[in-house]
Amino acid sequence: MSDLLIMTPGPTEVSEEVRRAMSRKITNPDLDPEFFEFYLGVSSKLQKVLKTKNDVIIMSGEGILGLESACASLIEPEDKVLVLDNGIFGRGFADFADLYGANVVKWDFPYDEKININKLEKKLAAENDFKFATFVHCETSTGVINDAKEITNLLNKYNILSVVDSVSAIGGVPIEVDKWGIDIILGGSQKCLSVPPGLTFLSVSDKAWEAVNDRETPVRGYYTNLQLWQNWYEEKYFPYTQAISDIYALDAALDKWIADQTIYARHKKIAEAVRKTIKRSNLNLYAKNGHSDTVTSIEIPKGISYQELNQLMTESYNVMIASSLGEFEDRLIRIGHMGENCYDAKLYRTLKAFDHSLRELGFELNVELHKIFVNQLN
Ligand SMILES: *Cc1c(COP(=O)(O)O)cnc(C)c1O
Repeated sequence: MSDLLIMTPGPTEVSEEVRRAMSRKITNPDLDPEFFEFYLGVSSKLQKVLKTKNDVIIMSGEGILGLESACASLIEPEDKVLVLDNGIFGRGFADFADLYGANVVKWDFPYDEKININKLEKKLAAENDFKFATFVHCETSTGVINDAKEITNLLNKYNILSVVDSVSAIGGVPIEVDKWGIDIILGGSQKCLSVPPGLTFLSVSDKAWEAVNDRETPVRGYYTNLQLWQNWYEEKYFPYTQAISDIYALDAALDKWIADQTIYARHKKIAEAVRKTIKRSNLNLYAKNGHSDTVTSIEIPKGISYQELNQLMTESYNVMIASSLGEFEDRLIRIGHMGENCYDAKLYRTLKAFDHSLRELGFELNVELHKIFVNQLN
């Protein structure tokens, strides 16, 4: 496992600096006043990434915890919640909203393209009495990225709060939470920020705080109750003991991210080169449009199974790429080119392994993927 290159769309590779940060001496995060200042500092670094003045809360748990917390804290039974579904994660939001008793209205959009804004606009003109709407920024299952700015603008026009799962986009593509007017956006540590799995974070607008507070029924949950986080700094109180070593790691990753002036340009350049490479070959990209600069989905050629491809790639070439979920399992392979994965040499090694493995499994590639990739970079 030691030199296995993890090119999945999360968890991503973790840098030496970040790993070292996790070994720092800890303190008691409930009692040490310095830890509260430290946590505030990490939160303000996340505000920089998200371009927001809204509160940013860091919670111990994976991305799903952020998603569930937003639903648990906002929803009262029978609240009307709009779920925009153009992928597996998008669809999954409906289950969480349902779990907390919402009256869920789900609008389906094709999975192989970004949400069509004109279509959404028409539907919203006809029905818009929603407390909030959810959508996924980057659908990690397919590599489709939605136009978060346009969608949020529309929702704001009708005073619908927005809850945006940006787990696999934050840090890899430009995001302007305040300018775009996003009420709750949530991320995870293990995607573009390249911290081990374990943390989720979310920003909460004043309007969202009002909705979280203005409830007639109590929040059905404790770990997922955002109300408990409102005055953590003033009261020097966390609802539970913080995962201090994970937060050390996040802090180190954020320092690295902030110092990297070329991060978005690098994601764009590498993602475009990967896509052009696939387009030049006799393989097919899954998405028709809305290609994310953080993850690419490629159709698995007929007659090859993900399992045998993965086994060959990991055992013979020490590179791991992912399959997809749900109905896409065994249909798509996904290469994560986000965060620490997003370097020319790592994509070169990945595409070379992919190229050789496909040939060994009997697929006749018409070009050499890694060589085409290099040409696309210039
Ligand atoms: C990774 C991810 C999450 C977190 O889910 P896990 O499958 O548990 O890692 C949530 N939403 C999106 C869009 C993600 O990419």
